[in-house]
Amino acid sequence: EAKAQGKSSYRRFSPEMKELSLERLQMESRLRRALELNEMELYYQPILQAADSHLIGAEALIRWNNPAMGLVSPDRFIPLAEETGMIIPIGRWVLNAACQANKRWEEATGQCLSIAVNVSPRQFRDPGFVEMVQQALSENGIPAKRLELEITERLILDNTIETAQILKRLDEMGVRLSVDDFGTGFSALGYLKSYPFDTLKIDKSFVRDVMTEQEDAALVKAIINMAHSLSLEVIAEGVEDSDQLQFLREQGCDFAQGYFYSRPAPEADFLLWVAGHQQATV
Ligand code: C2E
Ligand code: MG
Ligand code: MG
Ligand code: MG
Repeated sequence: EAKAQGKSSYRRFSPEMKELSLERLQMESRLRRALELNEMELYYQPILQAADSHLIGAEALIRWNNPAMGLVSPDRFIPLAEETGMIIPIGRWVLNAACQANKRWEEATGQCLSIAVNVSPRQFRDPGFVEMVQQALSENGIPAKRLELEITERLILDNTIETAQILKRLDEMGVRLSVDDFGTGFSALGYLKSYPFDTLKIDKSFVRDVMTEQEDAALVKAIINMAHSLSLEVIAEGVEDSDQLQFLREQGCDFAQGYFYSRPAPEADFLLWVAGHQQATV
């Protein structure tokens, strides 16, 4: 805020702002030590074929367990990690941990599940990013096509040559690319035809009211149809009940993810869920 106001931001900080920035500084110093103190953990949320609830993979979602702050959600610390550059080591840790977990699942379940990993803009633009992805895959013996990188429309907004080149290199490696939170980024749609995306993830804010709001239902239908016309697959996120799932099935949505199936869970719980789901569907 102060930055946007330019010179007029000379006025003194209000007590609230002081408190806010102290809290921020404290969080920043805790975040700096979080990796070495082993406070980061990945939770996993299953992704299923909408039509028959066949499990295809999971999304990795980071959690921060800090002794003083408890379980901190990524919405609270990822923006700070972005601003401070700490997203680079954190993102590297996430990718490696996700690939290692994916390898363990293969041994535990006998299935080749896919793994989706969120990538934030600063991490994506880091010069070593593509090599880092390559290394995480090869060190863990994971075929590139099993990894899906989720990128938000925000990143595509500043449509630079570098963005296009990085996407192209990842695509050539065989990594799958998805647009996360699709529909919330205010970006033009033209990028969909020139960038090598495989999947659109419909933002949960559209899925939430799909049974009660005609506009949301219309948007979801339109996104699915548009995606299919462009040979993209569609994942609906935030599916919380069977009516929403039924609607998505009727619209031909490819995949679904949400509390209806499972909340994001620590690896052990995720694997228990997978075993139970396999039992239920044989
Ligand atoms: P996202 O990638 O769009 O992830 C989906 C979010 O929706 C997750 O929140 C998930 O827990 C939540 N969710 C899943 N199913 C449902 C549902 O049925 N209903 C509702 N209401 N919510 C559902 P979470 O785990 O708090 O993550 C928030 C965001 O933080 C993520 O949004 C992603 O943008 C970011 N994030 C998470 N992990 C990472 C990471 O490892 N790296 C980066 N760069 N960002 C991450
Ligand atoms: Mg995501
Ligand atoms: Mg591709
Ligand atoms: Mg999302």
